[in-house]
Amino acid sequence: MAGILFIISAPSGSGKSTLVSELRKQVSSVEFAISWTTRAPRGSEEHGREYNFTTREEFQRMLSEGVFLEHAEVFGKFYGTARQSLEDARAAGHDLILDIDVQGAAQVRAKMPEAVSIFVMPPNPRALRTRLRNRSRAEGVVDDEEVFRRLNAARREIENYREYGYILVNDILDRAVAQLEAIVLSERYYRNGEVIAYRSRRVLEVAAACLQTNSQERIKPVLEAFGILNSSSQQQFDFKKDSEEENSDEDSEDNGEDTDDN
Ligand code: ADP
Ligand code: 5GP
Repeated sequence: MAGILFIISAPSGSGKSTLVSELRKQVSSVEFAISWTTRAPRGSEEHGREYNFTTREEFQRMLSEGVFLEHAEVFGKFYGTARQSLEDARAAGHDLILDIDVQGAAQVRAKMPEAVSIFVMPPNPRALRTRLRNRSRAEGVVDDEEVFRRLNAARREIENYREYGYILVNDILDRAVAQLEAIVLSERYYRNGEVIAYRSRRVLEVAAACLQTNSQERIKPVLEAFGILNSSSQQQFDFKKDSEEENSDEDSEDNGEDTDDN
């Protein structure tokens, strides 16, 4: 079988690593391309597991040698996918997931238009801020500047959602995992004729509902909350004001709605 290439992009902190790792527990034969990066390891990250960590000099050398299928500078650090990841997955007949930013996704789509692309959105800016902060705390660092930088970048990244075939809103984790699983299984079904057991009809429906062309109503509140769609009915999240707020809230997602923010 020719493996399917899945591209998954999302603003940092939206939960795509979590989704991919949950997916890989449920679905076999899905490889994850371990990217190269010049950023430092975070928390419990290990070289060769989450990323291959390297220096700028080494990254530049690899770049000049044509090692990378795609690469991009994100938050002042370089990230790249080695062509070898694709070759290894192909040789094993496995599907491959690339967790890459919107710039890298555009490069891969240009080279491989058959790739399946998925954009993951957080439900709203406040939930994203909470996830970024909680992750920083879990990693033993609290860097509100970094959280603010990533929060601000999120809006610009979400603006690219139209370039993606599927959209997931990672609100309730279990539901988003089931949707991601449905997308993978339904692509296998349509492209490879792979049987998806008795649940097949439901799986195909769930995946079809996540097609970008069928997602307008579902993503409208997210776009409004990030100030991408104008709405008179919903107040937008004030990124600056909110990031400067005292950390008086307990960063619970229970109050993830941002309508009461201003
Ligand atoms: P990304 O890979 O997109 O940067 P992560 O997978 O590291 O994001 O998730 C960021 C944080 O949000 C993590 O602490 C993770 O446990 C948490 N998280 C992920 N999905 C959800 C969800 N649906 N609800 C609440 N928290 C989530
Ligand atoms: P983080 O530092 O939070 O792990 O990732 C920051 C951003 O870099 C995320 O949007 C992530 O998808 C992206 N990224 C990770 N690996 C790669 C890669 O190999 N190529 C590109 N273009 N982006 C990557």
